[in-house]
Amino acid sequence: MADTIQRVLVVTAHPDDSEFGAGGTVAKLVKDGCEVTYLIVTNGNKGSSDRTMTPERLVAIRAEEQRQAARTLGVARVEFLGYPDGEVEDTREVRREVTRHIRRWRPDLLICQSPNRTYNLGASHRDHRTVGGVALDCVYPLARDHMAFPELMPEFEPHKVRQVYVMQWQNPHLVIDISDVIDLKLRALACHASQFADFSKVEARVRERSAELGKAKGYAYAEAFDHILLPF
Ligand SMILES: [Zn+2]
Repeated sequence: MADTIQRVLVVTAHPDDSEFGAGGTVAKLVKDGCEVTYLIVTNGNKGSSDRTMTPERLVAIRAEEQRQAARTLGVARVEFLGYPDGEVEDTREVRREVTRHIRRWRPDLLICQSPNRTYNLGASHRDHRTVGGVALDCVYPLARDHMAFPELMPEFEPHKVRQVYVMQWQNPHLVIDISDVIDLKLRALACHASQFADFSKVEARVRERSAELGKAKGYAYAEAFDHILLPF
């Protein structure tokens, strides 16, 4: 998997999205020697059903949970853009910030969420769609073209991403066997304790969904993506 991939950037909307959608794949890339960076666009400040919680406390809790999850998987660093949960928009500023991080960390492979609305409401959360669309627009053409965001130059030189994995569950191009890292994925996911009243239910759901995704290929557990290759 990592023959031509050395640096990976995972761009997601919320703390925990990377682990849910790609935690096993990230674990495998790290084991293969890749350097993985996370870029989390929102601060997750609405993700609580606890009536005593405040957005400010939640931001700090979720940032720490995300750092722990990243450490569990061997992710090199976590960057937060800090936009409010549920309110991220496809603006020039958001596109510039994502472009800046692509140019800064210079990934060979970028992993992002799907920009498409589906009737899986959790997976196609408004922020996921927005951030997925922004990430793809930044891969091409914004990170590549020196005249896009001239204010980023000369510090952040253009960069060409070579491959994109788009998290995807319906007729995916690419099914990755995560059987040997499913326990690690679950340990990383469990770091997001503020998000789960009963982690055993989450674990059961993740195992069930991952097993379903792997079935066609004969994998015990899998993650699934659309795969975009960008020509040289
Ligand atoms: Zn999310």
